Amino acid sequence: DLPVIYGITPTYARPVQKAELTRMSHTLRLVRNFHWIIVEDAETPSSLVTNLLKCTFMNYTHLAAPTPASWKRKLKEPKWKKPRGVSQRNAAIRWLRQNKNRDTDRGIVYFADDDNTYSLNVFEEMRSISKVGVWPVGLVGGLMVEKPLLDSVTGRVIGWNSHWRPEREFAIDMAGFAVNLQHLLSNPNAEFSFNVERGFQESALLSQLVKIEELEPKADNCTKVYVWHTRTEEPYLGDEKALRSKGQRSDE
Ligand code: UDP
Ligand code: MN
Repeated sequence: DLPVIYGITPTYARPVQKAELTRMSHTLRLVRNFHWIIVEDAETPSSLVTNLLKCTFMNYTHLAAPTPASWKRKLKEPKWKKPRGVSQRNAAIRWLRQNKNRDTDRGIVYFADDDNTYSLNVFEEMRSISKVGVWPVGLVGGLMVEKPLLDSVTGRVIGWNSHWRPEREFAIDMAGFAVNLQHLLSNPNAEFSFNVERGFQESALLSQLVKIEELEPKADNCTKVYVWHTRTEEPYLGDEKALRSKGQRSDE
């Protein structure tokens, strides 16, 4: 009777996709009572993701929700110019609203990108959240660790150590918080939006859900790092391109 953890993962087609999802699924398979909501940035589900999920022996829901063309990153356009994962995370939130019951379904909702590195500990920490739990995230925001700062007397969150846009109300990465399912369902309008300043996705969502003093610090009073905002280098595929221009490929 552990609460189910709903891990919401946006994903998009690229050379490293299968490697990322394989690595991630091999972590997630070790998490008890886990339900993976994987949302492809596409009009329809791909056979790559469909086949990979079939072979994982996990509980999962496979959705597709394309990023609108005007918000899609152009080739060579820097990553930071446009928010990523917005349509996909919202599709998953809507799926939860339609398929889960606010009064009877116990669970935790976590936004888990496909390229991060997850310790199993982060999942156990989040199971006891009643509204919103927070914890440190490694390798993000120009720091080794971004973390909530706690009042030494009350133990409550009073701010953030972030250097990047420290004026954010919730200066925390997507990987650094999770939300109780019943609490999310009790706030029927809470979702992500393209209509927020760059880098403010987390703050914009969390401000619809809690006040800073209500946040529940996890990971030993936010002293432990159990998740890292790693990024995967884009592989060099120059020779593959040459093959394809001759109508061949190395991977068939
Ligand atoms: N993503 C997506 N469509 C895109 C780019 C990214 O669905 O066009 C997904 C990606 O797979 C990841 C999440 O959105 O799960 C965040 O993207 P990314 O890791 O590239 O962002 P960053 O770590 O730079 O914030
Ligand atoms: Mn990432």
